Amino acid sequence: RDGAYDGEVTTAMLLIDGEWLETDDRIAVRNPFNNEIVGYASRATREQTLAAARHAKAYESNLTAFDRYEILANTAAQIERDEAEFVAQIVAECGACVQEAQKEVRRAVTLLRVCAEEARRISGEAIPTDVTADRKRNLAVTLRVPVGLVCAITPFNRPLNQVVVKLAPAIAANNSVILKPSEKTPLSAVKFVRCLIANGLPARMVSVVTGDPREVGETLVTCPDVDMITFTGSRAVGERIARSAGMIRTAFELGDSGALVVLDDADLALAADVAAKGAFATAGQSCRGVKRLLVQEGVADRFAELLVDQAKKIRFGDPFSTQNDIGCLIDEPAARAVEQRVSESVESGAKLLYGPPREGVVLGPQVLDFVPKDSALVREETFGPCAPIVRVKDLDEAVECINGGDYGLQTGVFTADIRLAFEAARRIRSGAVIINDGPQFESPFIPFGGVKKSGLGREGARFAIEEMTTVKTIVF
Ligand code: NAD
Repeated sequence: RDGAYDGEVTTAMLLIDGEWLETDDRIAVRNPFNNEIVGYASRATREQTLAAARHAKAYESNLTAFDRYEILANTAAQIERDEAEFVAQIVAECGACVQEAQKEVRRAVTLLRVCAEEARRISGEAIPTDVTADRKRNLAVTLRVPVGLVCAITPFNRPLNQVVVKLAPAIAANNSVILKPSEKTPLSAVKFVRCLIANGLPARMVSVVTGDPREVGETLVTCPDVDMITFTGSRAVGERIARSAGMIRTAFELGDSGALVVLDDADLALAADVAAKGAFATAGQSCRGVKRLLVQEGVADRFAELLVDQAKKIRFGDPFSTQNDIGCLIDEPAARAVEQRVSESVESGAKLLYGPPREGVVLGPQVLDFVPKDSALVREETFGPCAPIVRVKDLDEAVECINGGDYGLQTGVFTADIRLAFEAARRIRSGAVIINDGPQFESPFIPFGGVKKSGLGREGARFAIEEMTTVKTIVF
């Protein structure tokens, strides 16, 4: 049904010591597009949050690797069967459109399957010690053991996938988990946890808390029972957590001003297609989206035309409509902030080539040219559907622009010249450099994470498992 949510209005309950609890005080979860209440988030107190962490920490898992494999693989199969329900839940709470929510669910299923396999491959090495002059004839064996209690704090965008990328490797590695999803989008997260439990995950191995981010979040990040915090969200909150967490393991996936470099010899049609997909998908609310286009002067006019053509084809607005390519933004302040960045950049000299005006939470694709390098639109992370072109003289200027900024998550470079591709890959400071594709590139098999203010640590099934385990050495 276009224009409305016809699923169940559920409450994201707390999960503490294996029991689901409903609180009297709840936060309404509204569909961003029509403001309809689609569910509630429980509001945990500080005491409940601490109890949730204490119980999860005390739980000792005796699951074997094969048990963990089965739980994750069976959960994947169930989510695949229940795809329509998960899609409806995602659309309802975050305003991503149906097509995008389908992609998100399929990605989650794939990642669960990869983590299921990885659960069976966690191993160590055997190291002989008779290599020094004292000829000690010992044998050291290393094992990868669970880090302990993993606290996962997740953002509003891609509300299922952001939880799966943390919980699946944490469980594969046999950790207990305490999850704090975004209070804006807690429903898909809780649905996923219920699904894990229905497929054999001991309920006491995982706790869930929702509520006021300051109260619940800050309690968790200073809680002595937590052994690792894995956080995805904004730079400001990430930096705050880094200051509070103290000497425990942390992993941060923060923002980016994701660059796509287009050089004079690039395949322009392909580059414009990738640029549009990367800039506008999920209404630009993606950490690995294209946030700026560094285009070499010789092809900038032609590239801008092709990009405008792509932007005009995008259907946007009502997230419940299966006809739309993108939905709306998470709330009106977020949409206004993006609109503001666009108009400030126009005031400082940029030219708006295409930009349907904002209507409430709906903002269509915005294409700008001649954007000054230092405008907030491209210097900061702008979490909205914008494709700002910054014209550059050559690769040197593009590299300088990227390396001089605060972020470095993933960077795309379009060129047909293998030497330039290598040079770009070597010089650009970024978690990943993607040649002839965009910063949105993803695969569960490669490490994902940033440098500088984009984060610390790596996700991606095997790499997240490494972060969530610690090496234990046994010497014989
Ligand atoms: P946010 O930082 O506002 O919130 C993220 C999470 O932190 C939420 O669960 C929130 O409740 C919690 N939180 C808020 N204040 C807290 C505090 N003081 N202590 C502890 N927890 C607290 O981010 P958001 O608006 O939900 O998400 C958008 C941001 O996330 C963007 O900046 C985006 O780039 C980033 N992001 C990064 C990645 C990545 O992998 N690098 C992926 C997705 C999103």
